[in-house]
Amino acid sequence: MTSFLEYAPAPESTAILNLKDSYGLFIDGEFVAGHGTPFATISPATEKHIATIANANAADVDTAVAAARRAYDKTWSKLSGADRGKYLFRIARLVQERARELAVAESLDNGKPIKESRDVDIPLVAAWFFYYAGWADKLDYAGLGAAPRALGVAAQVIPWNFPLLMLAWKIAPALAAGNTVVLKPAETTPLSALLFAEILQQAELPAGVVNILTGAGDTGQALVQHPDVNKVAFTGSTAVGRAIAKSVAGTGKKLTLELGGKAANIVFDDAPIDQAVEGIVNGIFFNQGHVCCAGSRLLVQENVHHEVVDRLKQRLSTLRMGDPLDKNTDIGAINSREQLDRIRELSDIGEAEGAERWTAECAIPENGFWFAPTIFDNVSTSSRIAREEIFGPVLSVLTFRTPAEAISKANNTPYGLSAGIWSDKGSKILAVADELKAGVIWANTFNRFDPASPFGGFKESGYGREGGRHGLAAYLTSTVLQGAAL
Ligand code: NAD
Repeated sequence: MTSFLEYAPAPESTAILNLKDSYGLFIDGEFVAGHGTPFATISPATEKHIATIANANAADVDTAVAAARRAYDKTWSKLSGADRGKYLFRIARLVQERARELAVAESLDNGKPIKESRDVDIPLVAAWFFYYAGWADKLDYAGLGAAPRALGVAAQVIPWNFPLLMLAWKIAPALAAGNTVVLKPAETTPLSALLFAEILQQAELPAGVVNILTGAGDTGQALVQHPDVNKVAFTGSTAVGRAIAKSVAGTGKKLTLELGGKAANIVFDDAPIDQAVEGIVNGIFFNQGHVCCAGSRLLVQENVHHEVVDRLKQRLSTLRMGDPLDKNTDIGAINSREQLDRIRELSDIGEAEGAERWTAECAIPENGFWFAPTIFDNVSTSSRIAREEIFGPVLSVLTFRTPAEAISKANNTPYGLSAGIWSDKGSKILAVADELKAGVIWANTFNRFDPASPFGGFKESGYGREGGRHGLAAYLTSTVLQGAAL
């Protein structure tokens, strides 16, 4: 029976966007031509061309690093913390003013639902700049040693899953601490970083303090390997992070790595099941599961396993997949054909390994890259879908009987970025959290972010922390700091 209350489409207008046909590199305060072969950025929901994007080669990387060095020596390092803070406050306010436009651009280029870019990504971008603006004149009180100093030029490389938010996580603390920046966004999502460059012009940030180079992996490689860079901050896959760690070793560059994850979301039988189901959905289907800290392994206590999985399937059957710009959409497009192929491949492997596959019934749009929410039940701990990061809307379900078994299964992964615990008993949550090897642990919630809270991993999820006071440490040095184990 069809419901009388079907949703009518509610697409967000793209009229607010004033995009150019092509974008240059943002170097020394201006958009300039790149010397590599330009590439196209497309909408993953329609495969339609959005804009032509400049490609930075090694010579462009040189120019950008030189601009950042000049800006560091001549302007940025000469400003007081209070003055740096004023620029950051200005940027934060401009992000808020242009929030709707940024949200539309992000959803268009990335494929994420507009309700997420509008209500999560962009507000957090502004929050990150506000938060670090507040730190800029208080570095002496951050507990990071006496009179901490900036490092110099920071090379920053980010992924495509939260394009503008990852940019904010990188640029806000770097500038607050007094560094200048050369940042490379991911090749499939350069658009919001280029609109951000316009915001920097509006904010009249001194030329060269932030430079944005678009391009692919080779641009990123040339940037992190540049000899005049003092700090490398990378967010992306563990494989690339490992290669960067090798290339940076012995150079004296300070390095932070935010890499992949395979988080356990642990549901005990005394958990409020309805809330837990919402948390499981938010944990793995938010942003199509393109989330490094996604709760991609559901560990559910055996006696509530069937109840939880049944309710989860009911809930997933109500999710709407489709146009990312439609305000009703819960699940948007997969970011690229390459990522879609990877999700399909690992899901086929899961099926071949004997896990029970269930996929929500969704109408798949004709064009674009789509993958309906999928659950694999009765997954064994040795299965590849329980061990490897799928980075898509796919949940692996495993069971446990005792807290000790839950802890052992949760920690049975090369990653250690995040975890979730659902229980009515605070003491149980604290005891289990104490044993989990994960950088961030949520209790009776999941995927909550706050600029004051440090985020980062253990093991193959990387090292260093972003966010909070800890996030400043990655961009500062002092005599006390150098000797301290942070
Ligand atoms: P990726 O490693 O392929 O690419 C990330 C960025 O690195 C892109 O900008 C890319 O162009 C660049 N790059 C590629 N090769 C490079 C090289 N050799 N040297 C320097 N730069 C290079 O990752 P991805 O597929 O874009 O992103 C998904 C991955 O990112 C997932 O594994 C996810 O878990 C991880 N991630 C981690 C966090 C975190 O905070 N821990 C956050 C978001 C994403």
